[in-house]
Amino acid sequence: MVSEELLKLVTQRVIEKVKNYDTYKIPIGVSNRHVHVSQEDLEILFGKGYELTKKSDLKQPGQFACNETVTIRGPKGEFGGVRILGPVRKQSQVEISKTDSFRLGVKAPIRESGCLSGTPGLEIIGPKGAVSLPEGAIIALRHIHMTPRQAEAMNVWDKDIVEVETFGERRGVFGDVLVRVSDQFSLEMHVDVDEANACALRNNDYVMIRHNTGTSLPAINR
Ligand SMILES: [Zn+2]
Repeated sequence: MVSEELLKLVTQRVIEKVKNYDTYKIPIGVSNRHVHVSQEDLEILFGKGYELTKKSDLKQPGQFACNETVTIRGPKGEFGGVRILGPVRKQSQVEISKTDSFRLGVKAPIRESGCLSGTPGLEIIGPKGAVSLPEGAIIALRHIHMTPRQAEAMNVWDKDIVEVETFGERRGVFGDVLVRVSDQFSLEMHVDVDEANACALRNNDYVMIRHNTGTSLPAINR
């Protein structure tokens, strides 16, 4: 028999959890194909001394979409009008979807941003010149940005791998989602266009973590 007191306690906990429900809602940010550039490559593409200009702020503090766009070209095809995201980085990087990789003809691996060693290159073409990247084409590993407070509330740690549930008319579960915690972040899960379309997700739809699988990610070269 369950005592009345225990029943009361459980009910109270459930009510608390439901009250805090919004804490666990993670808004989606869909990333279309884009490029991060080094200052050196930017100057080859747009001219000596060139600086990126801001079109709009992204949700992550300090990150912005630029007015500048480039063409990316692989052995099989190309995409024009690919937006540069600022600020400039140490190394240029091209983030594409799996679908894009077929059209371009590059075997881009699924990688965490910035982990570029051994990845294939691509050609980037700007108005003033072109850069042939020796490496840097990746399919971004889906991930969630959050602050330390949010991580605590959701009971996860930086670099944890979680399962995320989506809602709506094409409900699904994403496995192997990387958690990234920093006080410089704003709560948001980043997916690419393939992933968003697979679950009919749009910007600011929300998802929730349903399981923390810990820190191992054997299938992914980190
Ligand atoms: Zn991100």
